[in-house]
Amino acid sequence: MSLDLRTMMLMISVLTLLLSGLLGMASFQAGNIRGVRLWAMASMCHSLASYIIFAQLPALTNGWIMVWGAVLVMTGSGLQFAGIRAFKEEYIDWRIPLSVVGLAFVLSVWFTFLHYDAAARSIANTLVFALINLICARALLINIEPPLRTAYWFTGASFALLGVASLIRLATIFHAPPDAFVGLYPQVPFIPIRFLFGSLLLMCVPFGFVLMLNYRLILEMQKIALRDGLTGALNRRSLEQEAIRLQARCQRYGDTLAIMMIDVDHFKAINDQCGHQVGDKVLRRLAEVAQNSIRRDDYFARYGGEEFCILLPSTTEEKARVLADRLRQAYASLTMEFGGAVLHSTISIGVADSKRVGLEFNELVSAADKALYHAKQEGRNRVVTHSAIMSSVPELVMPLPE
Ligand code: GH3
Ligand code: MG
Ligand code: MG
Repeated sequence: MSLDLRTMMLMISVLTLLLSGLLGMASFQAGNIRGVRLWAMASMCHSLASYIIFAQLPALTNGWIMVWGAVLVMTGSGLQFAGIRAFKEEYIDWRIPLSVVGLAFVLSVWFTFLHYDAAARSIANTLVFALINLICARALLINIEPPLRTAYWFTGASFALLGVASLIRLATIFHAPPDAFVGLYPQVPFIPIRFLFGSLLLMCVPFGFVLMLNYRLILEMQKIALRDGLTGALNRRSLEQEAIRLQARCQRYGDTLAIMMIDVDHFKAINDQCGHQVGDKVLRRLAEVAQNSIRRDDYFARYGGEEFCILLPSTTEEKARVLADRLRQAYASLTMEFGGAVLHSTISIGVADSKRVGLEFNELVSAADKALYHAKQEGRNRVVTHSAIMSSVPELVMPLPE
C-alpha cells in the first residue's frame, strides 16, 4: 500500500479539527453534562499537533516543533482524561494531566537541545503517551454506569488499544538499527498500515465520546419522560408500564402485589390559604418522605394532582397497611416552615392487594380508591384497607346524579 505520511498527517489534522467542532457544538446541547468541552479542546490540541508536524514534513529541522508537538499531544490526552472524570462526575486529579504535559516538555527539551538523542526522546514520549492512554482506558473501564456500558467499552477499548499500539511502537524503536535516527525525526521504518491503524484508533476516541454523550442524553430524556417534574416521582405513564411488568412477574411467581393510594387531606385549603407555591412544596416534602420510606423494589408515583400511588411487589394488604401507617405518621409529624409560617398536613391512604382483587392494575387502583374514599369519610389522617370496607359494607354505592 502506498500511503504518504504528510497526506495522512493533514487528514488527521482536518478530521480531529472537525471532531473538535462537533464536540464543541455538542457541548452546548449537553446542559449540565460535564466534560464535553474538555474533549473538544483535547481534539483541537491533537489537530494542531498534527498540523504543525505536517507543515514541517518531510524535513523536521526545527527542534521546537518537536517539543511543542509533543506538548500539544500530551495536553490533548490530558484533557481527554480530565473530561472523562468530569463526565463521570468524579474528582479530577489535575496532577495527572499536568505531570504528563510537564514530563513531555522536559524530556523533549532535554533530548533535543541539552543532550541530543532522537531515539531516547522518541522512546520517552511514546512511553508517556502509552501511559496516559492506559490511564484513560482505566478511568473508562472501571465503575461503569450500566446504561452507558457499550459506549464506555468502545471508548475504553480504543484508549487501551492506543496504549498497546504505543508500546508496540516503543519495541520497534528499541530494536531499530543505530543509524535509523537521522536528524530530528526517528527514521524507524514508516509502516503505512500501522500508522493508519494508529490514526484510526486516535479518531475512535472522540467518536466514542460522541457516543457516550449520545447515550447519556437519551438516558436523561428517558428520566424526564418517566418522571414527574415537580416531585421526581414516577409519572402515571411509567407507573402503568411498571404495573404491566409487575403483573406478569407476579403471575409467573404467584406473588402478591399490594397498592397504596395516598391523598393529601384538605390540600385545596393549603393552596387557598398559603398559595400554590407552598402547595407545591408540600407535595415535594410528601414525595421525599414517601421515597425514603419505600423499599428498593417498590414503585412510588404521582397518580395525579395531590394523589400518589405506591406499588409494592411481594407484599400483602396487611403488611402494606403497616407500611402505610408508618408513612402516614412520618408525614403527620413533619413541621413544615414556609416563609415563617408553620404548617402541619396529613394524608389519607387506601390499601388493597392482588390476593383479593386480582392483578389487573385498574382493579387494584379502584379497590384502593374505594378504601381511600372511606378513609376520607371516616375523618381523614388514617389508613383504610379494601378488605376492611368489604367486610363492613357489601358494596360501595356511589350516589348517582339526579
Ligand atoms: P380532601 O381532603 O378531600 O382530599 O380535600 P382536598 O382539598 O385535598 O381535595 P380536592 O380534590 O378538592 O383538592 C385538590 C387540590 O389539589 C385542587 C388542585 O388545585 C390542587 N392541585 C392539583 N395539582 C396540584 C399541583 O401540582 N400543585 C398545587 N399546588 N396544587 C395542585
Ligand atoms: Mg386531597
Ligand atoms: Mg384528591
